[in-house]
Amino acid sequence: MYVFTDRIFEVCGPPNREESSQTQTIVLKLPEDGGESPVRPKVLLRGNWYKTPIDEGDHIRVIGTFCLENEYTLVLENGYTYDPNVKSDINYAEYIILEPDIMVSSTTITSSFPCVRRGVFSEIFKSSSIEKKGNMVLGNIVHSTFEKFVARIHKEMESIKEIKKSEVTEMINEAVSSHIVSLRQVNMPEEHAREFLKKSVNAIITWLGGIMKPDSKEFNIQLKECVGTEQEYQSTKYGFRGKIDSIVVLKDKKLNEDSFAALELKTGKKEQGHHRAQVILYALLIMERFAESASPRNLLLYIMKTGKTHIIKAAREEFCALIQRRNELAKLQKLCNLGKPMILPPMLNEKKAKECEFCYMNRQCSMYALAIENIEESSYIPRFPKFTESRTTMCALSRDYFKKWFEIIAIEQSSYNSSFNKKKKRVLPREENLRMVEVSPIIEACSSTNTFTVRLQKPIYGYMKLIDFNEGNYTNLHGTGTTIHISKGIILKKHIAQLDERVFPSNKVKIEYEDDMKNETKNELKKHCFVSLEDLGENEKECEKEEAELKQFDCKKSDPVKSQIPKGRKALEYIIEFRGVNRMNLEPSSLGGKHSSEIIWRLESETTNTYQFNIMRNNLFLMLMKHEFKKQKNYIVYNHEPTFEDDEALDRYEKTFSHYVEDLNEEQKIAVIRSLGTKEFQCILSLPGTGEMLVIERIVKCATILKKKVLLMASNNSLVDATLINIKEKYPDLKLFRLNNDAKGTDSRLINETRNGNTWESKNEIDQLIEETQVFSTTTMSMFHPFLLGLIQKFDYVIVQEASAITEPITIGPCLLGKAVIMFGDYYISNPSVKSIDADRKGLGRSLFKRLCDQYTSKIIVLKHQYRMNKNICKLINSIAYSGLMKHGSEAVKVAKICYPNEVIARFPWIQEVKSPERSVVFLNIDNVLKKTMPSDICTMRTKNFYEAAVIKGLVCAFLESGIQTRDIAVVSPIRNHLYMLQNHLREQKVKCVNIERVGELSKDIIIVSCVKCTRVFPSLKDIRRLYLGFVRVKKKLIIVGSKNNIIGIEPINKFIKYIDTKNWYLDINNLQQIIRYLPKEARRVMSKFKTTRKQDREDLKVKIKKTSPVKSETETSKLVKNQ
Ligand code: SF4
Repeated sequence: MYVFTDRIFEVCGPPNREESSQTQTIVLKLPEDGGESPVRPKVLLRGNWYKTPIDEGDHIRVIGTFCLENEYTLVLENGYTYDPNVKSDINYAEYIILEPDIMVSSTTITSSFPCVRRGVFSEIFKSSSIEKKGNMVLGNIVHSTFEKFVARIHKEMESIKEIKKSEVTEMINEAVSSHIVSLRQVNMPEEHAREFLKKSVNAIITWLGGIMKPDSKEFNIQLKECVGTEQEYQSTKYGFRGKIDSIVVLKDKKLNEDSFAALELKTGKKEQGHHRAQVILYALLIMERFAESASPRNLLLYIMKTGKTHIIKAAREEFCALIQRRNELAKLQKLCNLGKPMILPPMLNEKKAKECEFCYMNRQCSMYALAIENIEESSYIPRFPKFTESRTTMCALSRDYFKKWFEIIAIEQSSYNSSFNKKKKRVLPREENLRMVEVSPIIEACSSTNTFTVRLQKPIYGYMKLIDFNEGNYTNLHGTGTTIHISKGIILKKHIAQLDERVFPSNKVKIEYEDDMKNETKNELKKHCFVSLEDLGENEKECEKEEAELKQFDCKKSDPVKSQIPKGRKALEYIIEFRGVNRMNLEPSSLGGKHSSEIIWRLESETTNTYQFNIMRNNLFLMLMKHEFKKQKNYIVYNHEPTFEDDEALDRYEKTFSHYVEDLNEEQKIAVIRSLGTKEFQCILSLPGTGEMLVIERIVKCATILKKKVLLMASNNSLVDATLINIKEKYPDLKLFRLNNDAKGTDSRLINETRNGNTWESKNEIDQLIEETQVFSTTTMSMFHPFLLGLIQKFDYVIVQEASAITEPITIGPCLLGKAVIMFGDYYISNPSVKSIDADRKGLGRSLFKRLCDQYTSKIIVLKHQYRMNKNICKLINSIAYSGLMKHGSEAVKVAKICYPNEVIARFPWIQEVKSPERSVVFLNIDNVLKKTMPSDICTMRTKNFYEAAVIKGLVCAFLESGIQTRDIAVVSPIRNHLYMLQNHLREQKVKCVNIERVGELSKDIIIVSCVKCTRVFPSLKDIRRLYLGFVRVKKKLIIVGSKNNIIGIEPINKFIKYIDTKNWYLDINNLQQIIRYLPKEARRVMSKFKTTRKQDREDLKVKIKKTSPVKSETETSKLVKNQ
């Protein structure tokens, strides 16, 4: 007999809607049962539920129980208060949650009353700081202080007056100083904010004093204790997330009962519908976490302006209305994620014009209505001021431009979402069994940053892969099966540690399967639960002990439900740092009574993707709707030609700065002078090694002499840092500023120049810094940082590096920040990386830089004389990418060859051959060894290539042995997983391993490029297409390791294969024996061909670089190396 309680189903067949009885009947099936189950549950949706937008194939969670007694049919209507404990209720469902995997934010739900459009726009144009108003900033300051007050309330506290006056003053000062940037942005004096806050604090103290009194006549409830502030909740049951101001324990004086409740502060004038709605939504979250201890009877809403306290008793009607709206928004989001047209409800009509007039999304809504919905062709045209204004601002060209890009962004975002969701599903099972070991707070020097670190452990009890989270990655923590969510932590350390017996006391780990899980899924889950022993102790004895322990623990024979962990075993440990999160939120009282170590945690990757798309949309919005960006609109949308200062001015610059340009070549000189004279934009096509850094450094110096302010921007931190360091070294007298929210992400050499831009002593401090600083720098992703928003149009020059690799909507951002923009790029080898083929085809794959270069060929400057690569490397690059455009800038560089300080003959002939100084370019083909490998073994590699790793290790050891310095070699690869393996494998040699996307500042004598592609399928082609980026960073010797069969035919790499074929520049690795000693340990663990015991591993894999005897004869060399 089947019983289904609170399950997720798939809608089977189109819903049946009966207009006359206002009933929608949906038939359901279990998503994973493949239609085999004879039971087909049904839900009848009545009343307001009738309108739920359900289609065939949608997923819904039904909160209720399907069983034989109710014939697997449930009714859902507003009027019925469902109680699972009452028998007569078995025919009713409590709620249905449409697409429960989509987490709709609680603010989106509440702001969508009375208009759904507002909810949607607030989500897709989310950028809190674009149009900040004074009262919003004051509201935020009061909020943060209020939370601090409430957080101090504990059980033993009798009166709020226990908080000393000096502490109150400190809190006020802290709150103001952490909002200085925003105050500056809205032009509000700090004193005004401080006075306002003092008054507010008095009101808060009076209110808290009253409500905390046990005998107060004013309140029939008593606030007893605070258990958490600013807590993030993510409910997989109801499909929404929210951040609750405070969770408090309230005593109902009448019933003499304590319960957990949400306390929300509102600083606005009066109670509005959405304030109430927000608190009611939080009731659902609290009930889920605190179960019976939470009560929806008493929820607190404190409206500060009026001093009113609302004790909200939520009604079922209200819960239903909110969940229905959540379902509607989730459906719109689903369509948007799938890249399908999202048909929004029309704009509110004339009767509700006031709502539109004061709506905070009215400009975005008007822009959408004009450009996407062609509202001017409909019968009703709104007349509120912002709409009328938008009608005049948005001409036909602007509307077309917005429509085009809005649609392209939607396509790309949907493609990101679908691959992210797939990845998420794949990764989730691996994260089971992560336990928190301890929570240790670190209050940083900056008192307003509450920082704490957590240690998470996962027991290691078998072979297989390490989890895909590494040092430096951003991550979120989620308590499995709970609403607990902690966001934005940075992984400080990932390592193997002693398994903490307090956390896993039974020495047993359960792999828990759901009852109906298929065997395949079980196996997959089990496989992912096992991690590698790769990095376990180097000590021989210790390893042998582990070996013996492992023998006892044979995962294949063991019970699949309970698996023993041998004593003294190790754990994979993560140390994660969270900032600005209240530590109280990890106490058992705020975790629903559980200790943090009892919860199984899941690591979730923090995605910046949504943020990136919001930046794109907001850039478009700013440029098209604001008058001050007319200049940018002219050249980006209307295709107006760029203008420059007249020849006289340019001559003057040349004379004035002759000292700074005299050592430059002609094209570099022109680039510097023309950039200084640009009025709108200057595109500089800079080929590799042509001195881009040098030109930037001179532009910056000359601009600062002219008393101009410069902003340096690039898409990634490492490039921004490298350029700034170069400027710092060349011109130490210049005052530099590096804006980076995460100081740990900045190069240590810039530590004195870096600030997160949020915490300041006073506005004067910011003003002084802006006044004194000549060069600012940050990434394009910081576009909406309040610090930058306060400086819009204040920069005289914005320099954008690698502009050819940045999409057009993102490049608009830097253009808006300054009066003139100077873009450097190279579209021959570097273009925006786009996920969706459709979005790429429609224009996202073409940068604004390339578009402008194509349009104004006579206005661009080409830096074509290179000073990096020798003759053969330059020839190769020229023929495969630049059609001969690149020229040599220096004769010495042209003829440069690698020379070895020590004459050591390599152990294997193929290595000796590669080492030859005459060979500047070598392609090492591993096809022959792949051919001798079983397909199942090749499949285990997927995003790694053990053979390439072995070849690289062999070469690196040989180069080092011959006296080449570690700093002169780099290994480059497009695949992250493969790089992590290489880093590990070359740890002893300390050679730099760089992702192809981060090669921007690289320049080495020897570069080894690893193609990774072990089959035609894995890894994806997108990564292989970027390989050229690695080729152009080398000076004397370029070595490419890969499988010719798997990359041939793929453009543009195909050109490279053809070229090296004609030049006889490749070698085959024919015999596995020649590389086996260099294989990574991991290969021995996972490939059946090399499987050995741990002891054998140690014997075989111990790589000791010894001086070997010379190779016997040339004949032997030719046998082993097939030089074609
Ligand atoms: S302007 Fe009017 S229609 Fe548009 S989102 Fe706001 S309230 Fe809704």
